Amino acid sequence: MTKGNRILVTGAGGFIGHHLVKRLRTEGYWVRGADIKAPEYEATDANEFEILDLRQFDNCLLAARGRIDQVYNLAADMGGIGFITANHAEVARNNILINAHMLEASRIQGVRRFLFSSSACVYAQSRQTKPEVTPLREQDAYPADPEPGYGWEKLYAEQLCSYYWQDYRFPTRVVRFHNVYGPLGTYEGGREKAPAAICRKIASARNHGSIEIWGDGEQTRSFMYVDDCVEGLIRLMASEYVEPLNLGTDRLISINGLVELVCRIAGKQLTMKHDLSKPQGVRGRNSDNRLLRDVLHWEPSITLETGLDTTYSWIESELARAGRAQSEVAVQL
Ligand code: NAD
Repeated sequence: MTKGNRILVTGAGGFIGHHLVKRLRTEGYWVRGADIKAPEYEATDANEFEILDLRQFDNCLLAARGRIDQVYNLAADMGGIGFITANHAEVARNNILINAHMLEASRIQGVRRFLFSSSACVYAQSRQTKPEVTPLREQDAYPADPEPGYGWEKLYAEQLCSYYWQDYRFPTRVVRFHNVYGPLGTYEGGREKAPAAICRKIASARNHGSIEIWGDGEQTRSFMYVDDCVEGLIRLMASEYVEPLNLGTDRLISINGLVELVCRIAGKQLTMKHDLSKPQGVRGRNSDNRLLRDVLHWEPSITLETGLDTTYSWIESELARAGRAQSEVAVQL
């Protein structure tokens, strides 16, 4: 990638897209952002930002117009497990439209490289039935048994990318994110994911009070800080690798473990009340990073302690501005 490259980031009003735009601008690239909404927490750094509904093909043609070299296609209708479980039809339909139209519009407009943001939700559910799950290798997405709705759509869009490469030699990159977290992401309203929801609940709880946790909290995941995510995205785009690639950490932690970690950061002692009626997703999920290391000669390295410290501080300050935080003196980890 040369500094003269022009880059389109779709989903630039969202969490990862906003961080990616900032980083690309810091490095001197010309960036257009496109999204159905502007970033919620601070202004965009993009050279151009266009409000476009990318379910519409004509809007995708507009977004990709004018000699764009690279497209990072991050736009998606998504949220945490509660949201994607309750909205299979809407999520799958909206994302099929965005991805199919962005791919075709980018090809027609002569884009040179297209990156699709897939998800660890494509992995076969039958391989994720225990908290002490075997880390998932890229080939474990088949035989297909992904998360209903969101996961099926991501898997299909991965295939679409490979067909565009096979039939048109249109160069696609496919990344499978494993739970990305960090500041400037949604932390309330129903679309937030577990780390942000936990930080919000802990920041708003009184010391020695209690917080609600979905499921029994023994379900496990791995989590990646957003700066590592952005670094991985840029490296994958620059690579010659066209198959799907994991991007995550391989440090497995239970949701209860995550709560304890954030409680230590917050300097609070809280009781967890487990709500077994709430969705908790697969029982365990972890990333196998062998291929990631081989392909990118790199892997995420920001620790959960460091990343959550920054994330918690940001969410706590957001709540404090609204008069909703209950602060304690933080302890050293
Ligand atoms: P996000 O929800 O913060 O960002 C997605 C953006 O897409 C939002 O700003 C939203 O407004 C936009 N969008 C939705 N519908 C649109 C439409 N019709 N037209 C234009 N824009 C539209 O999510 P994120 O965490 O930044 O995720 C970015 C990408 O990474 C998504 O494709 C998501 O599926 C994928 N992903 C994220 C994670 C994670 O942990 N955050 C994990 C796996 C995959």
